[in-house]
Amino acid sequence: MELWFTEKHTPYVQFSIKIEKQLYAAKSEFQRIDILESREFGRILTLDGYLMLTEKDEFIYHEMITHVPMAVMPHARKVLIIGGGDGGTAREILRYKTVESIDLVDIDKMVADACRKYIPQTAASLDDPRVKCHFEDGLKYIRHHENEYDLIIVDSTDPFGPGEGLFTKEFYGNCYKALKDDGIMVNQHESPFYPADSYAMQRAHKRIFESFPISRIYQAHIPTYPSGHWLFGFASKKYHPILDANWQKWKSLDIKTRYYNPKLHAGAFALPTYVEDIIREVE
Ligand code: SAM
Repeated sequence: MELWFTEKHTPYVQFSIKIEKQLYAAKSEFQRIDILESREFGRILTLDGYLMLTEKDEFIYHEMITHVPMAVMPHARKVLIIGGGDGGTAREILRYKTVESIDLVDIDKMVADACRKYIPQTAASLDDPRVKCHFEDGLKYIRHHENEYDLIIVDSTDPFGPGEGLFTKEFYGNCYKALKDDGIMVNQHESPFYPADSYAMQRAHKRIFESFPISRIYQAHIPTYPSGHWLFGFASKKYHPILDANWQKWKSLDIKTRYYNPKLHAGAFALPTYVEDIIREVE
């Protein structure tokens, strides 16, 4: 009997991965959590049936959501990750010795515990002494912090379910307040291709654009995400993502990556015309 994981990318498009076995299945207070074993993508984490990461391609997402802002701000010391309970984003940030502390705020401790057990390649970072995990709602956490962080990374689920609040004007406004005066916020920014994802991206961008003086969008190719064309938001109080990138300094850190590099960093902000048009509609 064949077992397949299938995710509906639209009502008319499905994406399937052949599964060798189910390693973990649970329902937390917030969401259904599954960890599956596959031949092609290794282990897969899904939340409420939506693919979050696979062992094979998670490096793309986690390198792009971290090294782009860190190449602009290699002096970052205090970092806040909202979501990211799988530990992949924290793993990449920990590669910077100048980072003194990472506050990781994930609403669901069960995600972190399941990933610690079944996906150590990302979750081992959660036990690093520089990482402090807070298992609570990021929307509430951010209300009580001001002028504290150099970098905020919003590594959330999609804009429904527990993650919905992390795409609101209130949340982005509070992230602005929680950042130092040269702070940067980067967020997973959905996708431009399918209508529902494109609408979510446009709505989030409008709210971020209204909250930050500098707000740009960049892209990466993530095979297991809907359409493979995935976006990230770069919002800043002071720095431009390309003009202020310090690639000399970044290269001197000798951080070995498999996807990110300075040329790709610059190129990632060169968006297709149809994506620029969608963005311009709300700017
Ligand atoms: N997309 C990432 C990737 O590709 O590796 C994975 C995202 S990470 C698993 C998303 C996390 O956001 C989940 O662990 C979920 O529990 C968390 N989350 C959802 N809503 C949240 C909220 N309101 N506050 C904090 N964390 C939240």
